[in-house]
Amino acid sequence: MSAPRLEIHLDRVHHNARALVRQLAATGISVTGITKATLGSPEVAREMLMAGVGDLGDSRIENIERLRNAGITSKMMLIRSPMTSQVDRVVASADVSLNSSLEVIDCLSVAAVRRGCIHGVVLMVELGDLREGFLAADIEAAARHTLDLPGVALRGIGANLACQNGVMPDDQKMAELSLIATELEASLGMSLEVVTGGNSANLDWVNSTEGTGRVNNLRLGESILLGCETLHRRPLAGLRTDAIELVAEVIESAIKPMQPWGDVAQNAFGEFVSQQTPHLRADAGSSRPDDGPVGPGGSHLEFGARTIVALGRQDVDPDGLMAPAGYHVLGMSSDHLVLSTGPQTLAVGSEIRFGLDYGAVLRAMTSPFVDQVFLGASV
Ligand SMILES: *Cc1c(COP(=O)(O)O)cnc(C)c1O
Repeated sequence: MSAPRLEIHLDRVHHNARALVRQLAATGISVTGITKATLGSPEVAREMLMAGVGDLGDSRIENIERLRNAGITSKMMLIRSPMTSQVDRVVASADVSLNSSLEVIDCLSVAAVRRGCIHGVVLMVELGDLREGFLAADIEAAARHTLDLPGVALRGIGANLACQNGVMPDDQKMAELSLIATELEASLGMSLEVVTGGNSANLDWVNSTEGTGRVNNLRLGESILLGCETLHRRPLAGLRTDAIELVAEVIESAIKPMQPWGDVAQNAFGEFVSQQTPHLRADAGSSRPDDGPVGPGGSHLEFGARTIVALGRQDVDPDGLMAPAGYHVLGMSSDHLVLSTGPQTLAVGSEIRFGLDYGAVLRAMTSPFVDQVFLGASV
């Protein structure tokens, strides 16, 4: 099989989605399955739908179009404010979008009338993370503005925390959102279909709160794909954290000195690499030939197994890569990953399997050099 490749275990994605859907259903919360980290993968989307998510969401209209072109007919939500330059595509493919600009809602209205459809609008409320959203004081005016426009229908309100500044969606923030929903309904004399409370960072709150109030939807991506909540990146009980793995191939394996020799300046990425990284010393091998290169002060250098893997920053974010137990990532340039593998040397041509965090998944998914292999599909 080709390398590097992402192995996406659909059975594990399914398992995670199903567990979250069931858990949240108990508190009256529906799940929107967010596909953006997979660039709108139809395989992943289908698995989420089979596991019971109510609808799908993605931040890019291109990804939503990809899902539509693959024949997926479920409700879809664009979870980033549409660009005014894309409103025709948005009303054509997405049923609902999250909105935080009146100018954009105006353009959606024009585009929906032109197309002869109704586009759903969810108004985002800024609750303090300082990314998207109307200030609470402006939400009623935004709702009235939306209600006055043809072609768009006000579906509800939402919030997004923990993305820009890590502000936590706790009881206080979610109570604030519930209160805004209740007050808005009273002043408008209508009920809101959706109160979408947040993302995977809201799961700690769901697990600890006495009541979820008016929140009846969460938009979940990372927790489904990686099995963790996102405030502390703790694994969620019963979920799989290995649904996505990156497999790469060894291209050099040798016993080499564990420290560089020669005068040192910047590396390829403008960094000065510390020569005294503790795990380098800990992993140093036992062989120490007397005729080896001489390090600073005339001492002979320690030797150890160093492995080069054909994987680089063009493929994945090195900080988000988790090497197998006992291995350490020593560094990564554009195309080479250098690993220490303890006492073992690995055969050239053998494969190594890495875990990934969200940033690493994103980068790997967008790299043209990384293949995607889908395993364990339900059908
Ligand atoms: C990415 C995103 C989500 C999903 O976040 P996860 O942490 O992957 O669950 C939800 N809502 C918005 C607005 C987003 O941008």
